[in-house]
Amino acid sequence: MSARLIDGKAIAAEIRQGVAQRIAGLDFQPGLAVVLVGDDPASAVYVRSKDRAAETAGIRTQTIRLPQQATQAEVLAVLARLNADPAVDGILVQLPLPPQIRTQAVLEAIDPAKDVDGFHPMNAGRLISGTPGLVPCTPLGIMRLLSAIAIPLDGARALVLGRSPIVGRPMAGLLLGANATVTQAHSHTRDLPAECRRAEVLVVAAGQPELVRGDWIAPGATVIDVGVNRLPDGRLVGDVAFGESAAVAGAITPVPGGVGPMTIACVLENTLTASLRRRSVII
Ligand code: NAD
Repeated sequence: MSARLIDGKAIAAEIRQGVAQRIAGLDFQPGLAVVLVGDDPASAVYVRSKDRAAETAGIRTQTIRLPQQATQAEVLAVLARLNADPAVDGILVQLPLPPQIRTQAVLEAIDPAKDVDGFHPMNAGRLISGTPGLVPCTPLGIMRLLSAIAIPLDGARALVLGRSPIVGRPMAGLLLGANATVTQAHSHTRDLPAECRRAEVLVVAAGQPELVRGDWIAPGATVIDVGVNRLPDGRLVGDVAFGESAAVAGAITPVPGGVGPMTIACVLENTLTASLRRRSVII
């Protein structure tokens, strides 16, 4: 391996500590509410880890649990109550939701000022128009990673593989905002390996185990692997074939321990940001 390993755990720990220090200096305590519908075990684990991280940073948290059979009207009623509660600065709805509930209707019912996941169309629109809003936590975490290891983005050729509203699309918007020349690749892209080889910064969020091979990577490129895939043999791998890619890249994130910890750190950062904006401390 010749690439520099990007230690997301360590960088996330610094961000979390910074958020905790800023909160300790406030004369109020930011509040985060997490809505969990149903009994998906993976979702329960995510919610617990967000909860613990938030408490450690000094954020007051509450988790609202609704049963698997909950109706959309019940979820919307919970959101209306949280939107109106002045002690709640941030609201997260854990996805996926049970099939009887329309995800988009739920996401659009969150007050955009409290939308710490940044999935509301108002925040998505702000990101694209380059105005301040709340930015989805995974792409925001990747921007923090790139900044922490001082990867130059101004004028850089960046490729984002994937165009989901949660990762790929906002990621491309953020890189564009940082003056990179951005290509967005997806499942209809012709000659994906050739597109990847042109990139100085490659962000991969396809959800396909080890899709990106070592010979798709330009020597010295920065490779950010968002993918989290469990193989039948139990191994956890990213969307990038790590060993062969690390031999070519200049810097690369591991899976786990790369992007994942940054996502949680940015939930805390977004909650702090929302709490300050709601009190007009910052714009
Ligand atoms: P998604 O399925 O919504 O989107 C995948 C995107 O990749 C699509 O736009 C699709 O066009 C593209 N794609 C899929 N297969 C492709 C192929 N063979 N060639 C080219 N493009 C292809 O997924 P998502 O929600 O964006 O998540 C992507 C991955 O990132 C998943 O593995 C997910 O688990 C992971 N993820 C990790 C974190 C984290 O915090 N670490 C957060 C969110 C998502």
